[in-house]
Amino acid sequence: MPVFSGNTGPMQTERAYYHFSGPEPYRAEIQDLRPFNDQIAVILDKTIFYPEGGGQSSDRGSINGIPLVDVQEKGQEILHLVSPVEGAHLRIGPAELVLDALRRWDLTVQHTAQHLLSGTILRLTGKPTVSMHLGEVLCTIDVDTRDFSEASLITVEDAVALAIEANYSVIIHHCPPEVLERFPLRKVPPQGEEVIRVVEIQGQDFSPCCGTHLSATGYIGMLRILSAEKYKGMTRLTFIAGRRVLVDSRLLRKQGDLISRLLKVPVAETGKGVLALVEKTGKLESRVKTLEEENARFKAEALLSKADLLHYTGEGAILVETFPHTSIDTVLTIGRTAQKLSTALILLASLQDHKFAAFCSAPGFDIRDILKKPMEAQGGRGGGSASFFQGLFPSKPALTAFLEFFTQSA
Ligand SMILES: [Zn+2]
Repeated sequence: MPVFSGNTGPMQTERAYYHFSGPEPYRAEIQDLRPFNDQIAVILDKTIFYPEGGGQSSDRGSINGIPLVDVQEKGQEILHLVSPVEGAHLRIGPAELVLDALRRWDLTVQHTAQHLLSGTILRLTGKPTVSMHLGEVLCTIDVDTRDFSEASLITVEDAVALAIEANYSVIIHHCPPEVLERFPLRKVPPQGEEVIRVVEIQGQDFSPCCGTHLSATGYIGMLRILSAEKYKGMTRLTFIAGRRVLVDSRLLRKQGDLISRLLKVPVAETGKGVLALVEKTGKLESRVKTLEEENARFKAEALLSKADLLHYTGEGAILVETFPHTSIDTVLTIGRTAQKLSTALILLASLQDHKFAAFCSAPGFDIRDILKKPMEAQGGRGGGSASFFQGLFPSKPALTAFLEFFTQSA
């Protein structure tokens, strides 16, 4: 176990994460180690790891090679959380911090894109963003409006693209609360703070925020709104930005090319091609259903005409038939059809599925009384009603033995 200092007072950590975002190692000091829930909390004199907050996830990386599980801000302290097993190797003293810089860059791109998107929507529609979430794969904002047409989404996307191309500077202002009125803030600032951090997209958008941001909008590269759905009386927009758009585009192009090749239509017409295929499949399914019903009736009539398959018990006529390579679904269709044509107890089995189904429409007759005991004697399971019963056996020999009980006792 690490040596815990026993320090109980809050320990301040210098926030170097606003100025440092690279992959190279960074020197700091471990000032304290302490148990926190089921993990170990590492307190540093200065940190390059952003703690979760303002809708942005915490950074990942390592401290002296030990991977970070999470970074949380509790009160005035920044807790770098590591697993108790790996964290046992850490000691108070010099530390080498390594940031997962690619992940940080991606989250910073998404975050700055979110400012630009929310600001653009407010400017074009007057509708504010109520909440946001920057996920590892997808990001969302909830906008206080119910109507977002497809055309207005494209207008917003195009306006965001223009702002990205304009490469507006992102300016950070540290302001005491009394000067905040200078800025047309998009969100209500936090209360009780001595200094408010205002993030400005060069005259376009002003928002109080503690997250990490790009230095100019050009670094966003591209923003795509993937969907708009109604959510709690508002509209939830799902979006991606930066490299995520490239990854998404590759995936869609790959799928599009595959569909285009299979359907022999241009990529731009794959939607129409799939629609035509779905309609054709629907018609074929309906045709197959009709043929199956015709086939079932034919087979049912043939079955009932085989007089030598009819065995007589004290209870009445019983017909047993085994289908070696027919699925239980087809067997059920044949059985249901035969049931309409005869009052005999019809017992049909699918050898390939180890299943059977029994039908009897003779009034006042309960097939469960006849089937249950012999089925259970062979380890079968099943159930049903007085006129329909189906069951399953663990093996083919068990099913065969069950069927023989009826053919031999007849
Ligand atoms: Zn922000």
